[in-house]
Amino acid sequence: MKIGVIGAGGLGLPALKGLLELGVNLNNEIVVFDFDKVEESNIHRQIFYTVDDVGESKVEILKRKFASMKNLGFSDLKLGDENLDNLKGFDLILLCVDNVETRFAVNDFCVENGIPFIEAGVEGFVGTVFIYVPEKTACYRCFHTVMPDKREKPGIITFTNVFAGLYQAKEAFNFLNGRSRLIGKLFHFDLKNNVFEYLKLSKNPHCPVC
Ligand SMILES: [Zn+2]
Repeated sequence: MKIGVIGAGGLGLPALKGLLELGVNLNNEIVVFDFDKVEESNIHRQIFYTVDDVGESKVEILKRKFASMKNLGFSDLKLGDENLDNLKGFDLILLCVDNVETRFAVNDFCVENGIPFIEAGVEGFVGTVFIYVPEKTACYRCFHTVMPDKREKPGIITFTNVFAGLYQAKEAFNFLNGRSRLIGKLFHFDLKNNVFEYLKLSKNPHCPVC
């Protein structure tokens, strides 16, 4: 199987760590995509980078760090509408990005090409994770119908994104082994109020995509 991790930041790094800890790379190929450089402003929640890495390409740092790892590749391609064809041939995508535009674009591409993906989003102490399985589940656009306005958002607490990223890895492991229990549900957690719940997700009959 070929697994893509889109984003090597707050979510993507713990997700990658989780995949490696679970040995997912031993029998599968993993490719991590990120075009960005390490910035000082968000380094506190990006578990593999240090202040010495500021200004350097994320994938170059990760290539060095994981040089001895088997079946692990890195790409600095900036994925957008025009080049998502690069995801063709992947069997599972972990969507670990911080913006809705990329979520919409990857969602639409995966629906069209029948590729499952696991998406996470975090804000403050709160986060969600869901898995899209072609023909079986709702897609991201079924329950996110409009682009949110660019209002001021609460910051992200480091352990919220680490928790969500590790959860994505766990879910990927379960899905690859045919025992995902997240299919058809949205995992919603609030680490401040100790809320961990699974909400039923139905396809939206008016979804423009699926
Ligand atoms: Zn849909």
